Amino acid sequence: MDHDEKTMSLNERSTLLPNFLEDPNKKHLIDGQWVASMSEERIDTFNPATGAVLATLSRGRTQDIDRAVQVARRAFEGPWRLFTPAARQQVIMRFAELFEKHFDELTLLESLDMGAPLHKRLRAGKSGIIQTILYFAAQARNIGGALPHNSLAGNVTTMIIQAPVGVVGAIIPWNGPLFSQMHVLGPVLATGCTAVIKPAEDASLAILRTAELLLEAGLPPGVVNVVTGLGVEAGAALAAHPDVNRLAFTGSTQVGREIIKASAGNMKRLQLELGGKSPDIVFADADLEKAVPGVAMGVYSNSGQICFAGTRIFVQRGIQEEFLDQLASYSKTLKVGNPLEEDTVLGPLISQRQLDRVLGYVRTGQDEGASLVAGGSRMGGDLAEGYYLEPTLFGQVTNAMTVAREEIFGPVASVIPFGTVEEALRLANDTPYGLASGVWSSNVNTVMRMVHGIQAGTVWVNCYGLIDPAVGFGGYKESGYGWKGGESQIDGYLYQKAAYINGSNV
Ligand code: NAP
Ligand code: MG
Repeated sequence: MDHDEKTMSLNERSTLLPNFLEDPNKKHLIDGQWVASMSEERIDTFNPATGAVLATLSRGRTQDIDRAVQVARRAFEGPWRLFTPAARQQVIMRFAELFEKHFDELTLLESLDMGAPLHKRLRAGKSGIIQTILYFAAQARNIGGALPHNSLAGNVTTMIIQAPVGVVGAIIPWNGPLFSQMHVLGPVLATGCTAVIKPAEDASLAILRTAELLLEAGLPPGVVNVVTGLGVEAGAALAAHPDVNRLAFTGSTQVGREIIKASAGNMKRLQLELGGKSPDIVFADADLEKAVPGVAMGVYSNSGQICFAGTRIFVQRGIQEEFLDQLASYSKTLKVGNPLEEDTVLGPLISQRQLDRVLGYVRTGQDEGASLVAGGSRMGGDLAEGYYLEPTLFGQVTNAMTVAREEIFGPVASVIPFGTVEEALRLANDTPYGLASGVWSSNVNTVMRMVHGIQAGTVWVNCYGLIDPAVGFGGYKESGYGWKGGESQIDGYLYQKAAYINGSNV
């Protein structure tokens, strides 16, 4: 079967394809133009809900990355330089308007491409994603320098000047690219940098469409370029490129290590948002009516394909059995199904490979002695063609078991008992990761001990998964470095320059 036949069969089955997929053979967006790979090679991208080919992507390699980086460099030194902060802010605001106008189309594209529930997840996140863009629009006007005092003899004026770092490379994962890309686009546009984006091969479509909207918003061609392809080819070429000044990488800790090595050549600045194995800690004095659904969605949301998923659920002895029962019952109420249906809570996993990997962890959990309390199987019936897995819950887990150590990236939760506050803290911190955490308690002393003691970039108290662009997000330990959002993120996109102006002879 050639590409056209395969994509046609899906087109025939769906009446809902966005216009963007009228031509399902996608190209790179470089210098404001759709261009094929120099090699003309293509790769398929799938709809994980059906397993069918959704579109084909251009397979970018080193020469395509080179071309895009050259274009981004030219744009950085060209007309984009002349945009004042106010003009950059206006482009971002126009982009926010267009993004809102096309939100239904973009979320449909994303849902078809990577399987997230259209209504309960993607469209429910509308305000958050638009507020993120608008936050960076405001940041564009806040970039300045400083005139620090000095202790120098004479009449020396000292200045700190800030300037955009230049060309930014961005490597984005598949688990939520529509949202994820904003944390690169925002600071790039606010500071006056330019970008080459390499989306994940499994979910590139919403990023391509967003780049097209940026042009419509008035962004000069070449400021944001998208090169699709494989991580080991296009991604690695971008990470190693000698003319990229900064690389923003979101993905696994394992690939993060490769990125650090690849970046050494020209010492490019790095922002690494990596994996996690986050603890969600329930104390006996917690309000269980809130804690049960909160903890469940902390792990099952996006079918567990979230970096900050609270997969290690520590429950205080005394309520342990009751909590496990309630969590199991709640997980069975969550609808697993076609991501386009209104009431679907869990869509498919991204790929057969990911499903196999997650099922492998389910087997390992059982082999190591954990008890499977709920789920654990691939869905059958109408859902048999897609990569669907039931929400899965393990009891009798210890923090030393593989399911409690390694990032699974699927809807698999482990309940681990603890006794005292200090024991909870010790177990929570006993992990190489440090991305996020949750605490459920009505005791302010317990809450404060945990907030200060947990080694993770975020602590959610009596809630899980809230994110705000003004606050930001980042990791401790092997979950990476560099803060995403907040005022300090902008600093990473700026060079600082000190000027000493000797005015004594003037
Ligand atoms: P991944 O395998 O590390 O891939 C992430 C991105 O890197 C993809 O675009 C991938 O391209 C590319 N890539 C793969 N190998 C590469 C290489 N050698 N050089 C350069 N780029 C390369 O991660 P994933 O499975 O897509 O995403 C899940 C991971 O992301 C999880 O570990 C999750 O925790 C993490 N994540 C972290 C955050 C955070 O904010 N901390 C947010 C979201 C996700 P291809 O896919 O095309 O190969
Ligand atoms: Mg896909």
